[in-house]
Amino acid sequence: MNRRLFFFAAAAFVALLGGGPGVQAAESMKVSASFSILGDMVKQVGGDRVEVFTFVGPNGDAHVYEPTPADAKELSESKILFINGLGLEGWMTRLEKSSGFKGTVVTASKGITPRKMVEDEKTVTDPHAWQDLANGKIYVANIRDALIAADPGGNATYEANAQRFLDGIAQMETTVKQAIAKLPPERRKIITTHDAFGYFGAAYGMEFIAPEGVSTESEASAKDVAKIITQIKKEKIPAVFLENVTDSRLLNQISKETGAKIGGTLYSDALSPPDGPARTYLDMFRNNIDTIAAALSS
Ligand SMILES: [Zn+2]
Repeated sequence: MNRRLFFFAAAAFVALLGGGPGVQAAESMKVSASFSILGDMVKQVGGDRVEVFTFVGPNGDAHVYEPTPADAKELSESKILFINGLGLEGWMTRLEKSSGFKGTVVTASKGITPRKMVEDEKTVTDPHAWQDLANGKIYVANIRDALIAADPGGNATYEANAQRFLDGIAQMETTVKQAIAKLPPERRKIITTHDAFGYFGAAYGMEFIAPEGVSTESEASAKDVAKIITQIKKEKIPAVFLENVTDSRLLNQISKETGAKIGGTLYSDALSPPDGPARTYLDMFRNNIDTIAAALSS
């Protein structure tokens, strides 16, 4: 089929369905979210009333991203832009400017207590606040309030969706705490590629150690890697975990040199594609805690 014929056929099909281009857009509010985890949270709260466009998709790295002209177009048509904040999306300012976005920017992490870390003698803010479910509840409340402010007619829907989601998060908190309580305390220590699980570790009593810092932008130095190898051997750290958003070569090398086993893949900064094990925020937690528990139970 040639292109013109295809478009004609597609238009005819849409007409047959009784809708036309734009009908859906007129009914649902268009919003954008910076990365897949936040995009899912907005979808859970927004339900059918919102159409969510996500810039950094499944398995994507939200620290470093090159926005496309299609992103600028989607953003220009959005009423709300949801970002994580805490320095995660360094590429957003340029995208916002180039798109001519006139809507409201909502920082989903607003109100959480930021975790600070010292890296190369500089104090940096850890952006991965979503990895603590208590912070996830704050994200949901911020998303709910922003959607209600932009679309007051959807008040009841947003309230109900947010409550259902908050209940799911509360349940997951219990699941995570119970799973970690079963692990021997000396084994609650694991290695990941970059420092994405500081909030998780602080909330649930685990120690995460990473050769890379809180951003994937800077690579681990030979000195950092050597230090971790020594630490793994000395403290008998049982497992290293790959991440869906980072290259696995470094961790494979560390595993080989130390004998620490590869515990599996953790979803840190992005969801999986729809056919994967971390399609949603809650599935991500379920997958991560199952993977950690399987690798660390003695
Ligand atoms: Zn990260």
